Amino acid sequence: MATDLQIASQRIVSLNPATGEVLREIECAGESEVRDAVARARAAQPGWAELGLRRRIEILRKFQAGLYARKSEVAAVITREAGKPLAEALVTEVLVVLDAARFLIDNAWSLLRDEPVPHANIVAKLKSGWLVREPHGVIGIISPWNYPFSIPSTESLAALVAGNAVVLKPSELTPVVALELASLLQDAGLPRDVFQVVVGEGPAGAALLGAPIDKLVFTGSVGTGKRIASAAAERLLPVVLELGGKDPMLVLDDADVDVASSAAVWGAFVNAGQACLSVERCYVHHSLYESFAKACAEKTRQLRVGNGMDAHTDVGPMIRERQVRIVESHVEDARQRGARILAGGTRLPQLGPNYYAPTVLADVTHEMRIMREETFGPVLPIMACANDEEAVRMANDSEFGLAASVWTRDRGRGERLARRIHAGTVMVNDVISCFGISEAPHGGVKASGVGRTHGRFGLDEMVRVKYVDTDRLPGKKKVWWHGYGESFRQQMEGFLDMQFGRGWGRMRGALRAAGVVRRKRL
Ligand code: NAD
Repeated sequence: MATDLQIASQRIVSLNPATGEVLREIECAGESEVRDAVARARAAQPGWAELGLRRRIEILRKFQAGLYARKSEVAAVITREAGKPLAEALVTEVLVVLDAARFLIDNAWSLLRDEPVPHANIVAKLKSGWLVREPHGVIGIISPWNYPFSIPSTESLAALVAGNAVVLKPSELTPVVALELASLLQDAGLPRDVFQVVVGEGPAGAALLGAPIDKLVFTGSVGTGKRIASAAAERLLPVVLELGGKDPMLVLDDADVDVASSAAVWGAFVNAGQACLSVERCYVHHSLYESFAKACAEKTRQLRVGNGMDAHTDVGPMIRERQVRIVESHVEDARQRGARILAGGTRLPQLGPNYYAPTVLADVTHEMRIMREETFGPVLPIMACANDEEAVRMANDSEFGLAASVWTRDRGRGERLARRIHAGTVMVNDVISCFGISEAPHGGVKASGVGRTHGRFGLDEMVRVKYVDTDRLPGKKKVWWHGYGESFRQQMEGFLDMQFGRGWGRMRGALRAAGVVRRKRL
């Protein structure tokens, strides 16, 4: 059985991580093919933009209808190539994309239309200004394998509705899902060159970055993100970087242990822990610590691990064996430093080389790799905390800042704590579902990234804002033009007093400023 990515003479072999079955062999795009794709996209983009927002929304509507009609088929394609259970493919991928399309269909018109800019300054009142949102042109998207449908789709739909063309470089591990997206878009009537997929490994991504694109939206690891940021800086290419996470879950002393432990187990093991928003660290008030850890361990032991195509599977395989090795090394490091293994802690070779048992660790510390590095696998490490202060301090003691969650029966307390956590998103009494809220922005702080996708802020990333200003008195010279002198200086001082002074100062300013119009201007 094949166990890892195979590239044979410029061909990528897509594999089913559950079985090792070869799904498809696809030609890799070389540098010239990537540049050609970008050139075709550039040629097609003006026509797409000129089609107008209403027509673009119509195509989005057709895409949504087509995806809805083929939802089960698309979910099966995702499960076969990425390994996640079918139910997760439907809920965390297909549903997310259907709803992202709904958000754009309902809101793109109001969010992208021209917007007047009211002026408050007295001088500026003589002008009318408005914002025009223009597409960047060609947007490059580089995406990972863990959400191979929802990530490139949500980003692409926003880019397309705003009038951009897109060239997508999907992960080399999940190209078939990306080609499925292309076919759904084409079936909806999108011109072929407006959305193209270039298949390949890292070098194809680097070629896309080096091609004349106008913006890059990258989702992936911190290491690759840094390389991309530094290459983009050379040519001042704008980038959005959606990078890794080490999301903390804070369980306060008044939390419901049954609900919070179920959330921790789902949050840590959904997609076999291969989610950027996974619960990767859990801090529990010491009064609940033992009962919480015990509940997590018991629930974890009940999870059914297996092929995601089986409707009863809770946790599928990891994407590749090399990912299993990372998990294994983090668990071993924790074990050697004194962590207790309450559940799992081993591979499951009887299922295949890519399976690792969902694992619960207690008594972990911040000296362990499991609490510092992104594990990206099915491990739930739990640590006791003395109080809220310590929980917040531990949560913030990380290079990452993607998302976090707070668990409490007191909503106000949870929301107050949320403000103190360094993260792009904090959920009170839920985990991960923020990714499926199409109105909510997604993105991180610190090493977790730059910029936002999803919602109105995600749409903002897909346009350049142009400010257009028209003077209402085109036949008049402006008072601030050349021909200065002492009296003009005094008048300007008076003008500032009039606008920003208080009481008498303001009145005096108005009188001094009054002479300003009698000045001879050049
Ligand atoms: P990765 O960084 O290895 O690869 C991501 C993409 O970048 C792939 O398509 C890859 O081929 C491409 N790539 C690799 N080297 C490149 C280079 N030099 N130039 C251009 N492109 C290059 O990440 P991965 O293993 O595919 O994904 C897992 C990572 O993604 C995790 O760290 C996870 O947290 C992160 N992630 C983040 C989010 C988010 O929204 N913040 C979402 C999902 C995944």
